[in-house]
Amino acid sequence: MIFGIKDKIALVTAASRGLGRGCAEQLAAEGCRVAICSRNEATVKQSAEEISAKTGRKVLGLVADMSRIEDISRLLEDLRQSLGEPDILVTNAGGPPPGTYASTALEEYEKAINLTLLSAVHLIHGVTPAMKTKRWGRIIAITSISVKQPIGNLLLSNMARAGLTGFLKTIATELAPDGITVNALLPGIHKTSRIDQLVRYRADQENKSPEEIIQEMMSANPSNSIGDPSEFGAAAAFLASVQARFITGQNLLVDGGDYRGLL
Ligand code: NAD
Repeated sequence: MIFGIKDKIALVTAASRGLGRGCAEQLAAEGCRVAICSRNEATVKQSAEEISAKTGRKVLGLVADMSRIEDISRLLEDLRQSLGEPDILVTNAGGPPPGTYASTALEEYEKAINLTLLSAVHLIHGVTPAMKTKRWGRIIAITSISVKQPIGNLLLSNMARAGLTGFLKTIATELAPDGITVNALLPGIHKTSRIDQLVRYRADQENKSPEEIIQEMMSANPSNSIGDPSEFGAAAAFLASVQARFITGQNLLVDGGDYRGLL
């Protein structure tokens, strides 16, 4: 299927590796003019070059920390100056630290809300005026399976993503008349360094090897596997497509059947 988004300008945040990078690669492969960001200049520039080499599309690597609102404003300004106003926005940020109610200090809550919830709110505020003028836009937020089924030991992530989900659903209705769709992608377990971090944590807690934990994760999934960032990125490219015009306000699980609920 041809997605009809060649030359659209796409911003994917927190995308030097992992799921964000998977989305950036697929959008570039569809012919989008892609910008990615992460916190480290050398890393983000190298990732942008690697995506360019793989897809044949020039990709811009910009520096921004999603936990800092001033970085988000500067990121959007840099993008306007270099590529223009984004037609497609994929919001992402590194996940907040793991922890339980007992282990999470009060001051961690505000940080998690800034990183996971308010970064997306600021990005969306920054891009929607131009999308409204163009009467076309695609907003895709990377959230988590945890908005359907909270994950033990990820209290901060569960909390902040639930808030973001409420925000996205509300604005989807408001932005639909302007030709802007707003959807979330809910990853189950994928092969990324975030998962490596959680695997090491569980391995320490349960006195097992990381390989045993990965094997347990794969066996617990109906597909007997874990996801690949490129498959996840393909779902983002579809939601960004012209064909997805009539899909908005949705939470799409990409989890190999891990979630067992009806809805
Ligand atoms: P990852 O650690 O592999 O990659 C995270 C990317 O974000 C990196 O490029 C990193 O440089 C960048 N980043 C981290 N913090 C940042 C910040 N403050 N500002 C800007 N860039 C930042 O992570 P991932 O597995 O790709 O996960 C992406 C998101 O999806 C996370 O929020 C994670 O919690 C969530 N998630 C992941 C999985 C999974 O299985 N991988 C499952 C559910 C939810």
